[in-house]
Amino acid sequence: MPTFDKKPDCCTGTAGANYLSSMNSGPYVSAGTQSPELREILSGVENGESLRREDAISLSKLEREQVPFLLQSASRIRDNGKGRTLTFSRNVFVPLTQLCRNRCGYCTFKYEPGEGPLFLAPEEVVGMAKKGAQLGCTELLFVTGDKPELLYPVYREALGKLGYESTAEYLIAMGEAGLRERIFPHTNLGLATRDELSALRESNPSMGLMLENISSRLLKKGEAHHGCPDKVPRHRMKTMELAGELRIPWTSGILVGIGETWEERIDSLYALKELNDAFGHIQEIIIQNFSPKQGIIMEKYPPPDFIDMLKIVAVSRLIFGEGMNIQIPPNLNPGTYPLFVEAGVNDLGGVSPITIDYVNPEAPWPKLEIMREIIEDLGFTLRERLPVYPEFIDGKYINDDLLRLVRDAVDEQGYVPSEEVSNGAY
Ligand code: SF4
Repeated sequence: MPTFDKKPDCCTGTAGANYLSSMNSGPYVSAGTQSPELREILSGVENGESLRREDAISLSKLEREQVPFLLQSASRIRDNGKGRTLTFSRNVFVPLTQLCRNRCGYCTFKYEPGEGPLFLAPEEVVGMAKKGAQLGCTELLFVTGDKPELLYPVYREALGKLGYESTAEYLIAMGEAGLRERIFPHTNLGLATRDELSALRESNPSMGLMLENISSRLLKKGEAHHGCPDKVPRHRMKTMELAGELRIPWTSGILVGIGETWEERIDSLYALKELNDAFGHIQEIIIQNFSPKQGIIMEKYPPPDFIDMLKIVAVSRLIFGEGMNIQIPPNLNPGTYPLFVEAGVNDLGGVSPITIDYVNPEAPWPKLEIMREIIEDLGFTLRERLPVYPEFIDGKYINDDLLRLVRDAVDEQGYVPSEEVSNGAY
């Protein structure tokens, strides 16, 4: 199992020492003076005002020497709501099927029939669940392509032989099978109906769907989501509204660097905020950076600028406020992920001791001992969580039978009971 097993560059050598010592006197000490306009925006938000869209857009245009003030503000807001605890979950990544009816410009996950198995067989899924549970994983992370049964007769027929008519039906059954092994499913199904979500809710304490972006412009020819019927933003919002009505703890987020404008990024965050204001079910916002890879349609696209990533993470914290869990995936930011802690994140996502990240197969997970050491150097405690966050472990969100199992798996704070954090032994 590949892991990156050394400290990122930002935390080693002279650069790292400088960085870490700057943490002692406050993150990202700026040589500049804070502009009065910026001070007004930031103090308003820190005093509990909502960040207005036009102010969020002006923050995206901040000059570099002003950025540290934005980060400091985001960090303080995170500290107020989340204290000095950062979280991660320990998962088994289950790519149930890698066939997909979409063709996103940034995809490396999808393949065609004949290039790999049509889907993982039930016994393979149960085997992964068993192994994961034995190794202390608590999350069975199901990721699939979108509705391949509508595009590939060969897939539909093979699934039919197992007794399932759709990927959703198969996921429902595999979620139940996983839970029997005492590991909690967290399903990313794509677009889903109310009935499908209801059935998944029986075994999944949380689920997810990235919004990616609210802009339908990205569906146009030449854009990242051209030819992707499941990436129509209003359909994705509809699935998440249904999840809200069903009170399913929900993970969502945006993809940064797929050809969207700053305004579209910010509008995407506000769309998610509005959804959460209406239903209160969004447990986590992931800010995921596009990373170019050989062979994808967008292989020549540059990755998002690092300072822009810091800004969007910090602006997300300001938009969502102190209560939201905000995550960046450390394996997609191997050299810089600790720096995002100073932009207001409080979660480092899923890390797997036994499976690769099939969506980003080139990006190994961090080694947990190293991650913990870095986080402690920054003055934080690293805690392991379930796929569902502690604040959603409640009868309002999880049915009684499942809630009993979830409660059995956590301590009084809702985290996985502490023990030596390690994934290097596997
Ligand atoms: S990124 Fe997901 S939805 Fe898009 S083509 Fe790949 S598997 Fe399908």
